[in-house]
Amino acid sequence: MSANILYNGCLNLEIDNKIISLDPEGKVDADIVFISHAHMDHSISNETVTPKVTSEATKELVQFRRGLQMINTITFDIFDFNGINFKLLNSGHVIGSKSLLLKFKNKRIFYTGDICDKHRFHMKAADIPNSDIMIIESTYGSSMYEIPSITEIIEESKKWIREELSDGNSLVLYGYPLGKAQIISKIAEEFDVPIIINDYIFQINEICKRYGFSSKDFIPHSKYQKDDQAVYIFPASSRRKSPAIEAKKTKTAMFSGWALDDDYKHKIGVDKAFPLTDHADYKGLLKIVKQSSPEKVFTFHGFHNDLAISIKENLGIDAEPLESGLYKLF
Ligand SMILES: [Zn+2]
Ligand SMILES: [Zn+2]
Repeated sequence: MSANILYNGCLNLEIDNKIISLDPEGKVDADIVFISHAHMDHSISNETVTPKVTSEATKELVQFRRGLQMINTITFDIFDFNGINFKLLNSGHVIGSKSLLLKFKNKRIFYTGDICDKHRFHMKAADIPNSDIMIIESTYGSSMYEIPSITEIIEESKKWIREELSDGNSLVLYGYPLGKAQIISKIAEEFDVPIIINDYIFQINEICKRYGFSSKDFIPHSKYQKDDQAVYIFPASSRRKSPAIEAKKTKTAMFSGWALDDDYKHKIGVDKAFPLTDHADYKGLLKIVKQSSPEKVFTFHGFHNDLAISIKENLGIDAEPLESGLYKLF
C-alpha cells in the first residue's frame, strides 16, 4: 500500500497507483474525480468520461453553470473504488457542497474542499470526521480573519437595509451567485418591497430549491418593468458594469468575508460591505483541525503558510503548506 499527494496547481492523490483528482479546474487526467462543490474554481470545465464523484445538487449546478453534461457521475454518499472507501460528508459551504473521507486499510484521509463550520439559514455546519491525514483549505487561514458572529452580521445588514429603505433608497445587494446569493435572498425576503433578482441567480436559486433551499418567489430582473423602490440581488462580478437599476436613489452593498479588510468597500466601490462568508474563518479552521485530530495536516488554497504555522503552534499537530511537488503519505 502506498499513498502520495501530487500537487502541481491541481491536487491529486495517488493511492496504490490510482489517481484521485480533487477539484480539478482544467483538464482531467485521473482514474476518478471528486468535485466538492459547484464554484467555478472547483469544478471541471470540460466534459469527460472519467468517473466523477459529487452530490446530485453539485452535478446539476455544474451542468447548468458550465453548460456541459456530467456523464458517468457517482452521487452515492458511500461506495468503494479499487479497495478505497469513499465517504462524502456535508461541508457546510454552499448547497450541495461535500468534503471527502477516504479510508483504505486502516488509514483515513480527509479532504475539505471549501468548508464552513457555522449554521446559517438553510446551511448546516460541516460534519467533521476523525482522520489520520487532513488536507484543508486555507482561504481565511491568517489570524487577520476573525469573522464576527454570523447572527450579528445578518442583523446588522437587515438594520442597514431597513434604514436605507425608509430613507427612500433602492438597494443593490451583491454576492457570489452560488452561496452568498441564497443567503442574501433569505436576508431580503422579510422586506415589503419588490425583490428583483438577477436572472442567472434566479436560475441558480431554482436549482437550489430542489436541494433544501427555500425562499419567497422573487421577480427575475428581465421581467421587472417598474420604476418603484426595490431591493436588487446581483452577482458580485456585475458591480462594475452596474445592473440596469431603474430606481433613481440607489445604495449598494457587498456581502463577502473580505469585507473584514478596512479598505475593501472603497476598493470595490460600494456604499457598504458586510463580512458574510461561506468559509470557516481562522478560528473555525483551527477548530475543524482539532476536531478531526489528524496526525498530519496539509494546507492549501489561500493563507496556507500562515495556517500551517498556526496549526503547529496552537494545536501541536504536524502541518505543512502544499507547494508544487510530491508528498509521500504512507
Ligand atoms: Zn467555494
Ligand atoms: Zn474555493
